[in-house]
Amino acid sequence: MTEIRPGDGDALIIVDVQNDFCAGGALAVPDGDAVVPIVNRIAGAFDIAVLTQDWHTPGHASFASTHGREPFETIELAYGTQVLWPDHCIMGSDGAAFHPELQVPTAQLVVRKGFHPGIDSYSAFLEADHETPTGLTGYLRERGAKRLFVCGLATDFCVGWTAMDARRMGFEVLVIADACRAIDLNGSLDEAWGEMTRLGVGQIMSGDLAAT
Ligand SMILES: [Zn+2]
Repeated sequence: MTEIRPGDGDALIIVDVQNDFCAGGALAVPDGDAVVPIVNRIAGAFDIAVLTQDWHTPGHASFASTHGREPFETIELAYGTQVLWPDHCIMGSDGAAFHPELQVPTAQLVVRKGFHPGIDSYSAFLEADHETPTGLTGYLRERGAKRLFVCGLATDFCVGWTAMDARRMGFEVLVIADACRAIDLNGSLDEAWGEMTRLGVGQIMSGDLAAT
């Protein structure tokens, strides 16, 4: 692949690099911390950089404990099947804070998602009811973004859903594969890549980006 030099119309979306998804966190993604130095290295190359933050109410509908169930079981909610997670990323908690070594001083927007008690939101664009917008689409369009580079945690949930919704919103989308890590629950990683590919989401490595 020829070297990609981010420029006008390019934006970096850094998904959920938060303590609860990293080592020692409530919902730790295997090797999740490994994305931090990569994100720190590449973020400065982008004129537009956005951070997302999973941000739940206590007793959120996506928590197993809310339903008296075990984590990683599924349940049917009004908007469809929901995987039940350990309590994580409760708004204002240390677990919801960004990884302490994440350094993206150039980021201009933090999108908090999943704050409605009854609706989860893997995607940074639309909540899990596939209807309620977060506002990110409008922000990126107003900033002139056309091509989005997506990285962070986890590949098969929040990164994947974000990338797929970005395609549905009409953006060109590239996932930076080595700047992501997956949960891989019952084949969810293969499934996510299959769906992303079908929707036209591309895949690059951070080394494909021009050194800054
Ligand atoms: Zn969550």
